[in-house]
Amino acid sequence: MAKSSAFMYGTAGAVLVGLTAALTACMETTGSTSKPESLQAYAQAQPSQAQPPAPAVPATVAPSPNPIPSALREWTGEDGSSGHPLMKASAIRAAAANFQNCLEGMFPLAAKRGVTRASFDKHAKGLTPDLRIMDLVDAQPEFTKAFWDYLDILVNDARVANGQEMLAKHKAAFDKVEKAYGVDRHFVTAIWGVESNYGTLGGDRSVLRSTATLACVGRRQAYFRDEFLAALDILHRGDVRPEQLKGSWAGAFGPTQFMPTSFKRFAVDFDGDGRRDVVDTPIDMIASTANNLKKDGWVTGATWGYEVVVPKGFNFLLADRSKQMSLAEWAKLGIKRPGGKPFPRPDDKGYLLVPAGNQGPGFIMLHNFRVIMKYNPAEAYALAIGHLADRLQGGAPFVQAWPRHEAVLSREERRELQELLLKKGFDGGQPTGRLGPKSRAAIRDFQASIGLTPDGFATATILARLRSR
Ligand code: CA
Repeated sequence: MAKSSAFMYGTAGAVLVGLTAALTACMETTGSTSKPESLQAYAQAQPSQAQPPAPAVPATVAPSPNPIPSALREWTGEDGSSGHPLMKASAIRAAAANFQNCLEGMFPLAAKRGVTRASFDKHAKGLTPDLRIMDLVDAQPEFTKAFWDYLDILVNDARVANGQEMLAKHKAAFDKVEKAYGVDRHFVTAIWGVESNYGTLGGDRSVLRSTATLACVGRRQAYFRDEFLAALDILHRGDVRPEQLKGSWAGAFGPTQFMPTSFKRFAVDFDGDGRRDVVDTPIDMIASTANNLKKDGWVTGATWGYEVVVPKGFNFLLADRSKQMSLAEWAKLGIKRPGGKPFPRPDDKGYLLVPAGNQGPGFIMLHNFRVIMKYNPAEAYALAIGHLADRLQGGAPFVQAWPRHEAVLSREERRELQELLLKKGFDGGQPTGRLGPKSRAAIRDFQASIGLTPDGFATATILARLRSR
């Protein structure tokens, strides 16, 4: 499946996310990997598995807010907000004018993959660029949501009930696939649920047209050239028919939102009919998704991680993706599961995530959590998958409460917070609006200086304290 990324969790606390269902925008996570997204109403996602550049999207969440069919929506004709030279309106117009040449220029690359001239002409000849996508590539998220807001959207009673129905309906397929790949069915089902609400939300754009547009226009051309060529190859081989190859603006398609290149790597013809149909053949889709997780390193019999209680006085510097310890070692530091249940596999290693600092639950993220993040590199996304998988097996909602009173800081507010820290002598580095380790250390020092628990977590409360001093 594609990796869609529904969210991104901004470093210190604010989740930047968005899901976009075919409609929204894309954000850059952290400099290097940005992925396009597509989710319905809010999400942003990122294209799939491979190493996509921008978040793609799980399409699932809410019905599209825009009732106008995508084909009728027009490009605004404005410069993109990224400031990238290829996103200037004049550059977009020039690239669009050169679109047919650009397409033709990709024929030799397609031919190298075995796509014939006749097939290339059949699928690519009449294509026109879908410039509306340029607005989506550079769209700023209209609102920022907190980490917990995304979990609420993605994991709820309806999605649990619908997932259980899918598990029952496709039990025979899951039995075979689980045996073949060793990937727990509840995780595959959770991906299906989060990415497309079990196939009900996935986007209606032609994947070939979207990827051709992105391969020839705008700032992601190199990345999307491969996606376009992979999409063409899929059509040439007949795994998926043109009318099935529809999805998010970033090119993710099918119930588990495969990007074309991910399809090439992971899709399997499990029912043996000669087509790897990840769109309309459930057992192919289920097996392909399981194969993706397996190839990405899934450990059979292990889970994603656990909700944990972080003790008072804990050193929050340890809550860092680079600090991996065994569950037994975490337990020695006072980290416990709610209710004191023991960790079943105490030697498994993981890192501590505290999405809301000391005001909310902690989570120990194990190896399989990282595997899920290869599908979509956003912690809020991966946690939603893990939690939904637990709920599908009868697990309870998280025990600890989120600090729902805390507003999420906007990028401008994060920048202001960094400026104020600097002004008051807490060196958090240059104010950029991105909160990295240095900023978190400065926040900790500031918290300690005013008698708050130093968790390094940026909140509206901290900003207010800084403003008032
Ligand atoms: Ca098949």
